[in-house]
Amino acid sequence: MLTTAEASAAILAVITGAKTETVALEKAHGRVLRQSVVAERDQPPFDRVTMDGIALSFAEFAGGTRRFPVQALQAAGDPALTLEAGNCIEIMTGASLPAGADCIVPVERVGVQDGVATIENDYAATARQFVHARGSDHVQGTELLRPGTRISPVDIAIIASCGLRDVVVSQQPTIRVISTGNELVPAGAPIEPHQIRMSNGPAMVALLEQHGFTNCSHHHIVDEPALLRERIAGHLDEANVLILSGGVSMGKADYVPGVLKELGVEVIFHKVSQRPGKPMWFGMGPGGQAVFALPGNPVSSLVCCRQYVLPALYRASGLRDAPPEFASLAQAVTFSPALTFFLPVKLVSAVGGQTLAMPVHTNTSGDFAALTGTAGYVELALEESSFPAGTGARLHRW
Ligand code: AMP
Ligand code: MG
Repeated sequence: MLTTAEASAAILAVITGAKTETVALEKAHGRVLRQSVVAERDQPPFDRVTMDGIALSFAEFAGGTRRFPVQALQAAGDPALTLEAGNCIEIMTGASLPAGADCIVPVERVGVQDGVATIENDYAATARQFVHARGSDHVQGTELLRPGTRISPVDIAIIASCGLRDVVVSQQPTIRVISTGNELVPAGAPIEPHQIRMSNGPAMVALLEQHGFTNCSHHHIVDEPALLRERIAGHLDEANVLILSGGVSMGKADYVPGVLKELGVEVIFHKVSQRPGKPMWFGMGPGGQAVFALPGNPVSSLVCCRQYVLPALYRASGLRDAPPEFASLAQAVTFSPALTFFLPVKLVSAVGGQTLAMPVHTNTSGDFAALTGTAGYVELALEESSFPAGTGARLHRW
């Protein structure tokens, strides 16, 4: 049986990178960038005025002049004027500094009468005040975004500021989430006492979408080998990633691993030393499809989806690895089986700035209602069985 680290490594070793496509700026939010974005121009592209007021020569102000005839008005978007000696130019925030001017006095400190601006007596100015110098943020050609960035709203501003109407991103993988089980009934359909609502599929689709993988659909197949074979074959033809839930344990109706083998999906591993999710199965299809077969218990399938499927999708998309996150256990935990324990937690911020993880114990891995309000789960090492309060643990957010 593989450890959790071995299972993660085995998946990442066989995952292949997604192809790229070009999308319009308006469609790029949330996608994974696969190109560099380079500054089109210096930023700011000109000496940019940052206050409404008057633009003047600091040397004249330093020489004692306080009254400046208003030569002209220059707003944002106007080409830069040339200041004539002894004058000032009424200037607006965002305007380009007029040639010959090197000081802005804010409008609040100036009175204008009969075309002459008079600066308050006790006003102290400095050279180049309220001027955001050309190129002081960055210069033309600076790499502002690297490949492997998930495009945030801020990144959209950067891409637009570089003048790009479209960008190269990773293609979205086609993902099929497949719930297996005779007992499963979708929401909205009549249900008998011996049946179970089908909740894993919608939950996993939501989790994938939350992480930016939006090309997902959910399907149900009953525990019938011939039907499983036919339907899964169809999904293998059409998708890059299959995520099955249910039917991977040792029960008589657990047909999924056998059917996958018959369809030419090469098993990479079956079973991981973890709770929940020990029966997890992973393999690669004949066309390079990643096939995750997760235990049907709702907590197991959600944890395995977060722990193994999402990092694989991230890797394929070219996303740079995020630095690991940690939290301190708010209470002592004991867990004796020689398994890695994925323990759901709620997070509390301590006054000192520490993130505390409050354990939320589920009543079996079927108790998904207990997960509500959890931020994710902490990973408790297989080698240990006793984890005192304050233990630092790797945190995985949903
Ligand atoms: P299995 O892994 O197929 O043995 O299923 C384990 C448990 O999870 C059973 O109690 C199933 O009824 C339940 N289960 C399986 N699939 C789902 C699903 N899609 N939604 C909710 N519960 C499920
Ligand atoms: Mg089942």
